[in-house]
Amino acid sequence: MSNYTTPLRLYVTSDLAVGVDVELSTDQARYVVQVMRRGAGDPILLFNGRQGEWQGALTSLSKKSATIHLERQTRPQENERELRLLFAPIKRPAMELIVQKATELGVTALQPVITQHTNSDRVRTDRLKTIAMEAAEQCCRMMVPDVCELVALSDAVSDWSEGDVLFVMDETGGGDPVADVMAETAGRNAGGISFVIGPEGGFAETELDLLRSLPFSKSVSLGPRILRADTAALATLTCWQALCGDWRRDL
Ligand code: SAH
Repeated sequence: MSNYTTPLRLYVTSDLAVGVDVELSTDQARYVVQVMRRGAGDPILLFNGRQGEWQGALTSLSKKSATIHLERQTRPQENERELRLLFAPIKRPAMELIVQKATELGVTALQPVITQHTNSDRVRTDRLKTIAMEAAEQCCRMMVPDVCELVALSDAVSDWSEGDVLFVMDETGGGDPVADVMAETAGRNAGGISFVIGPEGGFAETELDLLRSLPFSKSVSLGPRILRADTAALATLTCWQALCGDWRRDL
């Protein structure tokens, strides 16, 4: 056993149960053994988004492989409320920041959407998935949000169920103040919650007309200043969690 006592926390897809041996991916094994210098016997926490979080000990390791022998469950699985963030692709660093921080702030799905003023129609979904996974590992979340493939804005808003709400983040001043709109929604809707943020060039007028006309949408203002798309995404999620979400004790 090395001198490290704080367990590393990793996401895996395998089933987790007492006595099971879980083999890490080559990348994870390299991270654990070579980067973080963990050795045989060191504790590791694993979660898979289905069966809670488990502690085990590192066994049989080499530079490229490592196995964890599971000993006990440390946390049960928690179900999270559906929270989807629809965002137009923006420059890579800002987009990666959205994915990392939105994961920490509790989104369950990240949906890139093509809009008329979208600067880029290429999104490296595999890279964004890795960022979401690492953020979930680090913030002690029990699931990793889905990172969906890029779709047209109109397709992303075409399929809705009773009770769902889409908050349209509207920089034109046409929306109601965020605290008012969210407070009105809290507790009233059992459906999924989604937020849509425009690209750096903003939504086209026709897109705003489409979004505002949807029966399940609400236009929201984040105040008098025009925020960058990444700031708007994180401000929106912060408001939601504080006013209506899992930062509250009573909901
Ligand atoms: N149209 C703008 C910039 C768009 S900002 C321009 O080119 O000047 C990018 C996105 O962030 C917007 O489409 C909107 O979804 C969100 N956003 C920015 N500021 C906002 C605000 N004050 N209220 C609500 N949403 C905002």
